[in-house]
Amino acid sequence: MTEQTLPLAQRSAEELQQILADQRAAYDSLVASGLSLDLTRGKPATAQLELADRLLSLPTTPITPSGVDTRNYGGLEGVLELREIFAPLLGVPTAQLVAGGSSSLVMMREALLDLWLHGGVTSERPWSAEEKVTFVCPVPGYDRHFTLLSWLGIDTVTVPLLADGPDMDALEALVAADPSIKGMWLVPTYANPTGDTVSDDVARRLAAMPTAAPDFTILWDNAYALHHLTEVETPTADLLGYAAAAGNPHRAIMFASTSKVTYAGAGVAFLAGSPEVVAWFTGHLGKGSIGPDKLNQWRHAEFFGDADGVRAHMVKHRELIAPKFAEVQRVLAERLGGLGVATWTDPVGGYFVSLDVLDGTASRVVALAKQAGVALTPAGSAFPGGHDPHDRNIRLAPTFPGMADVTAAMEAVATCVLLAAAEKLAG
Ligand code: PMP
Repeated sequence: MTEQTLPLAQRSAEELQQILADQRAAYDSLVASGLSLDLTRGKPATAQLELADRLLSLPTTPITPSGVDTRNYGGLEGVLELREIFAPLLGVPTAQLVAGGSSSLVMMREALLDLWLHGGVTSERPWSAEEKVTFVCPVPGYDRHFTLLSWLGIDTVTVPLLADGPDMDALEALVAADPSIKGMWLVPTYANPTGDTVSDDVARRLAAMPTAAPDFTILWDNAYALHHLTEVETPTADLLGYAAAAGNPHRAIMFASTSKVTYAGAGVAFLAGSPEVVAWFTGHLGKGSIGPDKLNQWRHAEFFGDADGVRAHMVKHRELIAPKFAEVQRVLAERLGGLGVATWTDPVGGYFVSLDVLDGTASRVVALAKQAGVALTPAGSAFPGGHDPHDRNIRLAPTFPGMADVTAAMEAVATCVLLAAAEKLAG
């Protein structure tokens, strides 16, 4: 181990004082350089959006091959041709896939509200009539999932998210013992923020595990199902199929959207479940809708043509964003490697890198970065209530900024991580 890569914690007191002074100086010149950069939300870059701009001149005809006039009311389950394209990509039968509005998060809120007001296919009563409703949240996770729970007054209990999915021993013990635990969130493929994917073995355990609540529901948010960063197209485990085979066919509801395929917030969202869950969902949906925006769905179907059209489109995204992820890895490795002040994920898909800094310094890093003109997602946002018990996790989102900005922002992040670590270790 060279002196440069000796972990900071093993340096002498004098050396740490010197490192602290050096990092303060580096930070001061960073602040003086007047940056204005943003690594907060996982948004597609403009060049990614432009990949889908042929949509702006579609559809060529409002009538689908199956004879539906997409300008008119009807068809709550969505345009058949689009569902046929996405069903194999999401690994579900077309009949069990609903194409909806333009946001999967809205569909998740709809499903939760339906559970809350009416209960699900296997519920004994509406969830709102229960004394208490609790959700398991694997952490780190997606902040908006947690916000939806607190909005409804649903309690949370966390389990660690490991490289192959949630800590199953912890999860199985919780759900078997506590009937108030009605559900859980999971991002199965290239999770937000770790980029990890739920393995087949974990999915089988999720499908079969005994639960004290008869209507325990897994909200399987497959937002990054198709968002590969390498040539390896990691498949999503077939939770719906495993759950049906295990005798729990209504356990899982899958969500997905084209927000990061075509246009963010102006694409098409999907929901999949057992035939009964789909009928339950569309039944409630029909109380407030006479049909979705089929024109948008149909132009998406025309745009892609078939499932291979979607795959080819995702390769173009990969070509635009994989170099940015590689740049994040390069800067982190060069600046922080071997120093024992941070670990980070190296995702093969999705939109995020999860950075763990020295315990107790994540908030400080985010505050330092803000002062230096680099906006980072607030520390703790990957935990329910925004509370990271170790104050160590920071989510990095490198897709939106241009390449030069990714480099500058990551150099700044590295300086802030080093300064916060030196401050802590130098006492
Ligand atoms: N789920 C996850 C895990 C996400 O990261 C995002 C986008 N940040 C969404 C859902 C939102 O999807 P949509 O645009 O379809 O509402």
